[in-house]
Parts: sequence; C-alpha cells; structure tokens
Amino acid sequence: MDLPVSPIPSGPVARKITRQVRVSYGSREVLVGGGAPVRVQSMTNTDTADAIGTAIQVKELARAGSEVVRITVNNPEAAAAVPVIREQLDKMGIDVPLVGDFHYNGHQLLTQHPACAEALSKYRINPGNVGQGAKRDTQFAQMIEVANTYAKPVRIGVNWGSLDQSLLARIMDENAGRAEPWSAQAVMYEALITSALESAQRAEELGMPGDRIVLSCKVSGVQDLIAVYRELARRCDYPLHLGLTEAGMGSKGIVASTAAIGVLLQEGIGDTIRVSLTPEPGGDRTKEVIVAQEILQTMALRKFTPMVIACPGCGRTTSTVFQELADQIQTYLREQMPVWKAEFPGVEEMNVAVMGCIVNGPGESKHANIGISLPGTGESPAAPVFVDGHKTVTLRGERIAEEFQSIVLDYVKTRYGRHQER
Ligand code: SF4
Repeated sequence: MDLPVSPIPSGPVARKITRQVRVSYGSREVLVGGGAPVRVQSMTNTDTADAIGTAIQVKELARAGSEVVRITVNNPEAAAAVPVIREQLDKMGIDVPLVGDFHYNGHQLLTQHPACAEALSKYRINPGNVGQGAKRDTQFAQMIEVANTYAKPVRIGVNWGSLDQSLLARIMDENAGRAEPWSAQAVMYEALITSALESAQRAEELGMPGDRIVLSCKVSGVQDLIAVYRELARRCDYPLHLGLTEAGMGSKGIVASTAAIGVLLQEGIGDTIRVSLTPEPGGDRTKEVIVAQEILQTMALRKFTPMVIACPGCGRTTSTVFQELADQIQTYLREQMPVWKAEFPGVEEMNVAVMGCIVNGPGESKHANIGISLPGTGESPAAPVFVDGHKTVTLRGERIAEEFQSIVLDYVKTRYGRHQER
C-alpha cells in the first residue's frame, strides 16, 4: 500500500542564488542577493531640496526597519541637498545607505554635483528616462562612468509607465515578422525584460562589474509582475528588486503588493522588496516598511518583531476590550523593538496571542510564548494568561492591559536577556 505523502514541508523556501551586490555607507554594509536575507527598502516623499525634512523622514523609515532608503534627485537643488541630508543623518547616528532616484537629467546632476554622487550609496537609473535618440547612449554612459568613478552600485529600474519607446517599437517590429506574432501583452513583457537586460549588458561593457548591478522591472498588475519576474529571473543572475509599482492606497495596495511579491518570493525570486503604498492624506510613510517586513515575516523568510496572533473576533466578543488590547500590545511591541533588538537578542521570534474568548483562546494561547484569553460575552470576567504553554495567572478588573504588558516585559527580560543561556 502506498504511504501518504507527508504534509510537512521539506524546509525553508529555496532561494534562487544570484550574484551579490554590496550597498554600503561607512561601516554599514547591506548585502543584496547571493543568499543574503531579502532586504526591505523604502522611498521618501518629501521634497529632497528640503534637506532637514528629508533627513527626518529617512530617519523614521530607517528606524522602522528600512535597510536602504531611496530619495528622488530631480533637480540641482535636490542634488545639492543630498550631502546635507547625509550629514544630518550622520549627526543623528543613522547610517542607512541612501539611493538616488534619477530621471531625465541624472547624467548632469551626477557629473555637476560630485558631493551628491559621493554621498549616495547607489544610483537608480531608469533606462526609459535617460534620454532620446543618440543622446540616450551618451547620457547612460555618463551615469555609469560616475558610478564607476565612485565604485557605486546601480539599480537598472525599468518601469512600464516609462518604457523606452524606441526599444518597444523595435520589439514590435520583430514581432510583426513572426509567423505567429505574440500578443501585445507578451510584447510588452519582452520589451521590459529586454530593456533591463540590454542596459545591464551595456553597463558591463562600460566597465561596471556585474556584481554592482541590481535589476527591476516594475508593473502595476499582479499577474504581469509575476510573469515578468519569472522570465527575468530565468534569463539572468543579477539580484532582483521586487515591487508592484503604483500599488495603490490602503488595503488594495497592501493586498496587491503582497499577492505579487508573495508568489515570487515563494518561488525563490527576489532579493530586495519595496511596497509602494500611496499614503492616506497625512498618513505615516513608515507603513510601507511595516508591510514589507510583515510580508517577509509571515512567509517565515525573516524575523523583525514579535508577532501578535489575534483572532478576528465574532459575536462572542461584543465589547471592544479585545481589539483594544491586541492593538495596544502590537503597538507596544513595535515601539520597544529599536531598544529590545540590542538588549534582548532573539526577542523578534516571540509570539504573543491575544484571543477573544474561550473557544480558541486557551488553545491558541498555549501555542504562543505568551497568550491571553479574554472573556467573551457572557463568560466569567476573567482572562487567563499562559506562559510557555502553562497557565500562570488569571487577570481581572480594569487594569488587564497594563498587567498583561508588564507580564510580557518580564518574560522578555527573563527569556531574552543577555545573561540567559539559550
Ligand atoms: S476565539 Fe472566540 S471570539 Fe475569537 S473568533 Fe474564535 S469564537 Fe470568536
């Protein structure tokens, strides 16, 4: 009789091994690809010419966990501000590498502002926005020359909103000559991929080492992104930066980004990610960093912060106590992480369960490092707490949240304090 196949996965997701690119600033070195952890990137939305405002936002993104931060460098004022931003970050003790995002005039800005070229740790070049006609090659070469002079890596970042039109026309012509022409969609995919690969090849011909090149081909449709990156990963071994461009606002942006990035990561494709969320008016830019981390952590690819496991609630939770506690604990854990990371190594692996009633509460709480099962409607007003699978105390009254938070802190100190042997 055939034995059933084990439902247990055979191990972690196998990653496609690429070349490895070093993005560094001072002693801080972020390795991308070549088996390094998948990196989290973000981008500011301040006016780069406002050096102080931009430095503050870079600091917030870095503190939230962004390992590389991109800033737009769109005019001479922005280019002049880049070294000032770097200086401000140094003063604040923020050593996150900065990437300059260049379009149209990057060749001029990089050659005319050497302090900007020096202060940046990587340049993003969009081959569709480097220049038209004969100027295109010269201007691209100028940017690569500056990158070579300062030994900076580049990301050749193709975007279907700014695809090189002459290249698209060439691919369309080639397609017209086929006995069975491809669909318009396939032609578009091919143009995106060709733009990235030919630009990388040109950069190498201009003397750029292959291990200083990262590629991306961003589109805004989930299925398009998956198809393009599968093919791009098949055809090259450069590290790939993943992201759904113009993902959108709120839950739509998060869901679409997660669907696209998640599928590719599961196939071992992708070495850095950015979640391009449109912030709500007045919204917090760090949200894109948190979502990127949550994608990686929920897929068990990396660990950043203790996870809160909370049930969705139902008719058994008719008060808001349970939602408030889950929210407070999650916020508390995230706020503590900048300090905890240094003081309590391994704390990012902790799981905390906040459950709404006794149906699944005690069971789920026992699986977590610490869990609390709050009283559902009609249940006795008591909240048993479980630590490492054992019930330790039952909380009652108005101060359940504070008391639970203090139990979590005690657990962290005892379990992850440096003096503990683990
Ligand atoms: S644990 Fe209780 S409150 Fe939470 S979803 Fe399940 S039944 Fe509802």
